[in-house]
This record gives sequence, structure tokens and C-alpha cells, in this order.
Amino acid sequence: MSELAYPYEAPASQALFDRAAAVTPGGVNSPVRAFGAVGGTPRFMVSGDGPYLTDADGREYVDLVCSWGPMILGHAHPEVIAAIQEAVGRGTSFGTPAEGEVALAEAMVERVAPLEQVRLVSSGTEATMSAIRLARGFTRRTKVIKFAGCYHGHVDSLLASAGSGVATFALPDTPGVTGAQASDTIVLPYNDLDAVHAAFAAHPGEIACVITEAAPGNMGVVTPLPGFNQGLKDACAADGALFISDEVMTGFRTSRAGWYGVEGVVPDLMTFGKVMGGGFPAAAFGGRADVMAHLAPAGPVYQAGTLSGNPVATAAGLAQLRLLDDAAYARIDAVSAEIQALITEALSKEGVAHTVQTASNMFSVFFTDGPVRDYAEAKAQESYRFTAFFHAMLAGGVYLPPSSFESWFVSTAHDERAVQRIADALPAAARAAAEATA
Ligand code: PLP
Repeated sequence: MSELAYPYEAPASQALFDRAAAVTPGGVNSPVRAFGAVGGTPRFMVSGDGPYLTDADGREYVDLVCSWGPMILGHAHPEVIAAIQEAVGRGTSFGTPAEGEVALAEAMVERVAPLEQVRLVSSGTEATMSAIRLARGFTRRTKVIKFAGCYHGHVDSLLASAGSGVATFALPDTPGVTGAQASDTIVLPYNDLDAVHAAFAAHPGEIACVITEAAPGNMGVVTPLPGFNQGLKDACAADGALFISDEVMTGFRTSRAGWYGVEGVVPDLMTFGKVMGGGFPAAAFGGRADVMAHLAPAGPVYQAGTLSGNPVATAAGLAQLRLLDDAAYARIDAVSAEIQALITEALSKEGVAHTVQTASNMFSVFFTDGPVRDYAEAKAQESYRFTAFFHAMLAGGVYLPPSSFESWFVSTAHDERAVQRIADALPAAARAAAEATA
């Protein structure tokens, strides 16, 4: 792509990126932030306020990433900040049990019926890694089924055919993951129950669990076909395997009770992160009490963490969950639908083949005629159109995920002014997408 493709400059961000590259691999602490898929200078943000982010060059953007999901009330929500300040004033880590972690676990259990017991951890990766260890310990089986394009964090055994950054950078496999770690992972096409039944038939009594994103957002948003998640649950139940629903992205976002609240399929174990941490490193796994009873110190499956249940993180998460009432979800759903309609209108006007896919208020745009039902179909889109679209939106003051394999996120803070900024940026971005060449 020529320099002209970036019709604006970001000298302060570029200077920071140069400094960062000297001391950090690739200049970033999580790969997708590097703009590798779209090119150009990653924006170094200095502050966030409601639906806006401001970068080191002083440019303000409407944020449609929301920290990849957590900032569901927008940035620096006054009540969340107040709860954090109150907690910080009492100390930042005790290394003992504290009431905040009990209150957060209670709030989660109250919202999500299948969640009988919860263990707090510090990242979504830790949550899925621990849930799989527990499933293996409980069933005394080794194999795990996952789906191509589903991302569950950078757990060794789950990096096979993962979405998100692994999709963005088209990494077929990750060096450093041994054959032994990967050999117990069975990767199947998403939304394909026949493939699941065939895998159970080929490995009777060997499969510890099936793990799936409750509604995938890491290959772009691919909605589970009706009956798919229930079919997974039934296949697991018939064989004595556990069904793990990864709600790190969907949890407390797609409804008050996450994707479980939308579909009602009851998993054996669930994983959470993002929204429940209020912008801090907090995550969780949980589910059936008889399964969770196998976890140390109640049972033999070991799992631990120095900062698990950190008092500042739990205060932030709890404050955020308390503010997420029915009105908040109605607001997020409505603004998401409004933005989706604007995108469809702009791209249709320019004759750009596309489909906007949703999972409740999560959505993403595929530059192909839909529907997109699995990773193969997601990869078949014209991603080069997204690149042009992305940069035109950035020039128009709208910050999108810098990859066509990611969900877009909105918050309760996305108001009329923010939506108008998006509406104003879209015509030029749609034209850029139409004119883009491979
Ligand atoms: N599971 C899902 C569905 C995710 O979307 C992510 C991160 O995006 C993870 C797990 C890993 O979470 P973390 O980045 O906190 O390790």
C-alpha cells in the first residue's frame, strides 16, 4: 500500500512506536494493536472519555473497540472511577481473601443461572486454560474439541486454527507449541454438528470437553446457527464430556446474562473476562458446583494466582456490573443497531459487497456477500477493502478494530454526537472500500 493510502500523519504516535520497538517486540504488548493487518502507525492513546479516545497527537476518535469489549460504559465512567479510587485508597493487593471478590462472584452468580461457583483469575487466557485443566481432571480424559476461528486466548493447546491475532497475521501454527501440546486438540469447522458427531464417534470416551466461543467474535462475528450450541451440549452429555462456553467476550455484554441470557443453553463450565473486570485484569471461570469442587483447595486440580481477585480490579468490575441494568443493555442494543444500519446504507450506496453480522449488540462487517458461517467463509472476504475502509474511518475520526477478523464494540456512552461522527465518516470510507484493489 502506498504512503498516499494514509491521508494524515501521526508524528507523536510514530515517535512512541519507534521508542517502543526498541524495547518491546514489534512495539506492542498484544499483536493486533500493531496495525500489522492494515498498515500505518498504531495510535498511542493518552486518554479516554465516554465514547472517545484521544491520541498522542491530540486527535480525538469515536472508539468502536472499547478496549476489545471491557469498556461497555464508555471510558472513565465517573461511578466506576469513584469505586476504583475508593478501593485504591485502601491498598492495591492483600494476598488474602477480601470482601470485594466475594461480592463480584455473587453478582456474577446472580446473573448467570448455570454459574453455581466461580474462581477469579487475571485474564481470559488463564480462565480458559484453567477450565480445560479442570475438565481434564474431572473427566480423566485428554482430548479437547475446539473450532477453527474461535480464539480462547494464547493457551498452548488452543492456538490451533485460532481467530483474533492468529487470524490477523495468518499464523498457521505457532512455534513454541509442541506437537504433544497440540496433539490432544481436535479442530473442527464452526457451525458443523456433523463434524462434532463424527469426532465423538472416532474418539469414544476420550474427549474431555468441547470449548466454543458462546457466539464467536474472533473471526469477525459469526452467529451460532440455531441449535448448534444445544447440539454441542447434547453431544457432550451423551459421551460424558463437558461443554465449556467461552463467554470472555460475550459475558455481561450480549445481555445481562451474556450469551447464555440470549440462547439459554446450559454449559457445564463457562469462562469470563473483559466486562467483568471494568478495564482491569480480572477474569473468571465457573459453572457446575460438582465440577468446581475438584478445584484446589477443595479438590485435587491445582490452580492459583498472586493477583487473583485483586481488590481494585474487583471494585471496578463490580461497579460496572451494578450499572449494567436493563436500560443500559437497551441503549447499547439500540446504538449498535443504528450504527449497523448506517454502515449498510453507506456500503450499499457504493455497491460494495458486504454483510454486517451480529451477536446481539456485537457486530462486524465482512467484505463479502453473506452469510459467513465459519472461518473458511470469513477468510474468503475481500480484506483489502477493509484496509481502505479502516484508514478512511480513522481519517474521519473513528477508531475501528485494526483487523477484519474482530468484533466491533459500542458502549452506553455512544451518544448522538458520536453516532453523527460515524455517519459523517462513512461515505468516504465506503468509497475507499469500493475503489480498493487487491
Ligand atoms: N476468550 C475469548 C472469547 C476472547 O475473546 C479472548 C480475548 O479476546 C480470550 C479468551 C482471552 O482473553 P485475554 O486476552 O484476557 O487473555
